[in-house]
Amino acid sequence: MKNLCILGCTGSIGVSTLKVVAQFPEKFRVRSMTAGSNVKQLAEQLHTLQQSGHKGPERVAIADKNKLSEFKQLAGFYKGEVLSGVDGLVELAQEPESDFVVSAIVGAAGLLPTLAGLKKGKQVGIANKEPLVMAGPLMLAAAKASGATILPIDSEHCAVFQSVRCGEQKEVRKIILTASGGPFRTATKEMMLKATKENALKHPTWSMGAKITIDSATLMNKALEIIEAHFLFDVPYDQIEVWVHPQSIVHALVEFNDSSVIAQLGLPDMRLPIQYALTYPERLDGALPPLPLDRMQSLTFEAPDHERFPSLQFAYAAGKRGGTAPAVLNAANEQAVALFLEGKIKFCGIFDLVRAALDAHPAQQMDNLETVLQADGWARRFVADQAAKTSTR
Ligand code: NAD
Ligand code: MG
Repeated sequence: MKNLCILGCTGSIGVSTLKVVAQFPEKFRVRSMTAGSNVKQLAEQLHTLQQSGHKGPERVAIADKNKLSEFKQLAGFYKGEVLSGVDGLVELAQEPESDFVVSAIVGAAGLLPTLAGLKKGKQVGIANKEPLVMAGPLMLAAAKASGATILPIDSEHCAVFQSVRCGEQKEVRKIILTASGGPFRTATKEMMLKATKENALKHPTWSMGAKITIDSATLMNKALEIIEAHFLFDVPYDQIEVWVHPQSIVHALVEFNDSSVIAQLGLPDMRLPIQYALTYPERLDGALPPLPLDRMQSLTFEAPDHERFPSLQFAYAAGKRGGTAPAVLNAANEQAVALFLEGKIKFCGIFDLVRAALDAHPAQQMDNLETVLQADGWARRFVADQAAKTSTR
């Protein structure tokens, strides 16, 4: 029986994780779970778990302290302990009672709790890619020092993780991440300049949280994933490629030195990579239907258009520059996406603001958490100021 701490239980990945847990009640138990501010959904999830006879969670944490009293009103039936704030999240990620931390908060907010789990030597399943992008070397060092295991949940990285098992690290020639291409794959530049929030939130193949959906429309999600792959698999940036694969069936491919290519295929459903991370190195007969090959007449691959989608080049440049540059890329993007979702900048303003932040950022070594958090804060302020000044609307 594995005891889980689910960070970000109310999100898209959190909900899918609870579905996997429900499928294998004899294998997994929720020891604790955390939410940002959606206390209504948290209360509903606790109610469902209680109704199903699940023994747990004993502790929950709510990041937004202002929501604590509302939660207590909604979840009077819940007899466990309720913590709040970042400290509460960190406490749950590091407590000895859990074996596996599912890192599924969105954005930089997941950094401290995820790092706390890694420092305590736990198995940590990472969906929340932004902390790895910001502070990959610190997270890997923490895992190494404590003996923690990092298991990728991001579908492409789960696919790479499965494919690299077919050879030695030194035999890997190339990692190929696939991208759906998002809602603007075939749009003209003019259409992208006029894109609305509604257009950008319409993902063709995956159903996900708002931030990653916008990141998929800008290809920034794939940009972050290039850096994520570099840290997770210790492969140089020149050996990581992206191909647009609109069907989202082949999640990633690994080319070995003999030119053999091993790929992982699956329906676009996050329950599969979540289940693989939770059961690794085993595989279990789960809830997912077999891949219907008869409905797959064409699986296509096309090169990304770097002119319309400059995000990938931002990632290669920031990744190669190293130090705090990836943290700046991530924070500038988070801030720009938030401004776009608030209707304060245009879609292509995201590219302009991220580029401006990367150009203005003085390269710095990343020595410790403090340097990362400073770079993150700097980039957010820079983007907010720049957006206010130029009003890209
Ligand atoms: P989401 O927006 O649906 O959920 C985010 C979760 O984080 C929620 O539980 C929310 O309450 C919590 N949260 C938000 N802000 C917080 C804060 N400041 N402090 C603490 N908790 C906070 O996002 P999602 O789509 O589930 O994605 C989560 C992460 O997984 C992201 O990093 C995303 O890139 C990654 N990911 C998601 C998918 C997917 O299919 N959804 C696939 C691969 C990777
Ligand atoms: Mg992905």
